[in-house]
Amino acid sequence: MSFSRLDFPVQYLKGVGPRRAEHLAGMDIRKARDLLYHVPRRYEDASTVQPVAGLEVGDSAVVVGRVRSSGVIPTRKGLRIFQAVIEDETGHITCAWPGQPWLDRRIRKGDLLLAAGTVRFFHGRQIQPREFAILESGRARGGASEGDDAGTRGAIFVVYPASEAVPQWVLRQLLERNLTTLLRQVEEEEYLSPGERREIGVPGLAEALSSLHAPKSLEDAERGRRRLAWDELHFLQLMHAHARHRSTTAVNGIRFGRTNRLIRPLHESLGFRLTDAQARVLREIYADMTADRRMNRMLQGDVGAGKTIVAVFAMMLAMEGGRQAVLMAPTELLAEQHARSLQRLLGPLGVETLLLTGRTDARERARVLAALADGSGLVVTGTHALIQETVEFARLGLVVVDEQHRFGVRQRMVLSQRDPTPDTLIMSATPIPRSLALALYGDLDLSVLDELPPGRKPVETRWLRPSRRAEAYRLVRDELARGRQVYVVYPLVGESDKLRLRSATEEWERLRAEEFPDFRVGLLHGQLPGEERDAVMRAFLAGDLDVLVATSVVEVGIDVSNATVMLIENAERFGLSQLHQLRGRVGRGADRSYCVAIADAEDAAGERLRVFRSTHDGFAIARADLAMRGEGDFFGSRQHGRPVLRFADLTLDQDLMRAARERARATIDRDPDLLAPENAMRRQLLTGRFGDRLQLRSVG
Ligand code: ADP
Ligand code: MG
Repeated sequence: MSFSRLDFPVQYLKGVGPRRAEHLAGMDIRKARDLLYHVPRRYEDASTVQPVAGLEVGDSAVVVGRVRSSGVIPTRKGLRIFQAVIEDETGHITCAWPGQPWLDRRIRKGDLLLAAGTVRFFHGRQIQPREFAILESGRARGGASEGDDAGTRGAIFVVYPASEAVPQWVLRQLLERNLTTLLRQVEEEEYLSPGERREIGVPGLAEALSSLHAPKSLEDAERGRRRLAWDELHFLQLMHAHARHRSTTAVNGIRFGRTNRLIRPLHESLGFRLTDAQARVLREIYADMTADRRMNRMLQGDVGAGKTIVAVFAMMLAMEGGRQAVLMAPTELLAEQHARSLQRLLGPLGVETLLLTGRTDARERARVLAALADGSGLVVTGTHALIQETVEFARLGLVVVDEQHRFGVRQRMVLSQRDPTPDTLIMSATPIPRSLALALYGDLDLSVLDELPPGRKPVETRWLRPSRRAEAYRLVRDELARGRQVYVVYPLVGESDKLRLRSATEEWERLRAEEFPDFRVGLLHGQLPGEERDAVMRAFLAGDLDVLVATSVVEVGIDVSNATVMLIENAERFGLSQLHQLRGRVGRGADRSYCVAIADAEDAAGERLRVFRSTHDGFAIARADLAMRGEGDFFGSRQHGRPVLRFADLTLDQDLMRAARERARATIDRDPDLLAPENAMRRQLLTGRFGDRLQLRSVG
């Protein structure tokens, strides 16, 4: 493998000594490559930088000018204010930083300063910068020559992520001195031919990086970003495609034979027709299962879209081929609920559904384990942990994992370590936009249930200010009087003076004593012991409780079709997807249902609630959630604390994502381990990015 000079320590670059190298390492810049990829976090040009003379009080302004004078001013209250007067060719203005006298050592006369903030009136016009950057140091220039204002005009100002130890102007200087060399070196890493670049619509690598560090225009910088976004998405998809190859093609899959012996009677006994989306998804699943290749598929669908029945049909197909099927649920309650539905559907067809959870007693457990081991038991549902660890199967064919999203990072499935390897179907009730699904789960094939069964009444959703809480209680009382059940959800368990949130425990006391004294009010939260939690949930399920006061533990809960109101307190504290999940707990029966969000919310939280109120479409909600939060939240900090996607934006770059995935799959299909000479650079770069997660085969 060739060694790129971009992998040399940053210390070998011009202008970097041991001390500076240490400071750079503090910002995660260790290799020459890291400096080259340390691109500006924002750009300012003539359209955003305003001439000082025209600024008016109240403007939100970005200005660039030379520091003409500066100093620390004490106030009567003992607060010390650092002030700098900056000047461009139109005039001057004061910038003030109250309580930051130490800036006196950083901002000096002669520096070229960029400052952003609102213009106020305080002994004349003044900006208290929200943000500032020293674009050029007066010291570095050997003292500013008066009247030299080149650089404040016409150009694009770039602002790097900087630190106390490595200020803005140092980064600019380092890149100025080294950029040409670094660009020459990165040219050797170009893995796209000019033809491919044209097809994808991205510039060359060196050109892109040059555009990012020294753009001719804002559009130029955006073209550069797109190229780096492409690289990120492409290598992410190469990694996924490789993982997919290993888990589907490189292992022995099962080719299920379809006889319709069970599938047809199941269709006939259903009592409803599958939606078009369910039928389409089933065709995708059947095609996978009847092929040699192993199925590794994710099924996404909104709450109530009917994922369970899809899973049941897949399990029937497995059984028609004489294989065993497993349905895993995240909680005992869900496992029991699944067991009941399965028994209702399959019992009449002569198939017994087994159940295995922490509550299963020793004798029953022994019976279930024996039936699975000798092959007489065909279907089992249970909790993830239980089924994964200990169970022996005679002829395991299909593993279905429900509510996968509860587990965050996908667990390695012990069940998949057998030969032949069972097919897997992973179901998630938290819809996420397709682009995000491809980024996170690109190694899985994706099926989407984007249609609800007919006749569903949308849950009537309201957003009330706390001052109108009485209206919500009136609604609750009306529904209770009609024999319906109600959830009341709080973001916290215990008392929290600081935030003055209504906490579940306190409110439970109040609600049952004062608001709903004639009804049975239960309390459910994550700090209760598991058994107690179960008991409360079971009581609500059985109708022995009318009101369930809870924290968000009910989110992935249970199907109580008699529940018609979901009341959410401090709704501003919940994320959009979380709110949608909570709402999904009602609207499960034939009656009209209500979701009432109580919140005093402005800004982002207000926007969330407006979106929440306006749509029931889980995918629309997910897209809005992604747009508002950014994808970083979804990825977590998986790559050594660095974001997986620094340049790509899943909302903006959907075209790139699709193309990246198609090309990655085609490449891996032809050359799974990237051993062909024309893939050598791809292989090297892929290893550089994901080496720790990859298992690429070597030559020989
Ligand atoms: P989820 O996707 O949230 O797991 P479920 O599988 O629990 O949804 O289905 C929700 C309800 O919708 C169940 O009561 C199920 O019987 C019913 N259902 C599923 N598919 C259909 C359909 N095509 N027509 C009518 N009702 C359906
Ligand atoms: Mg479900």
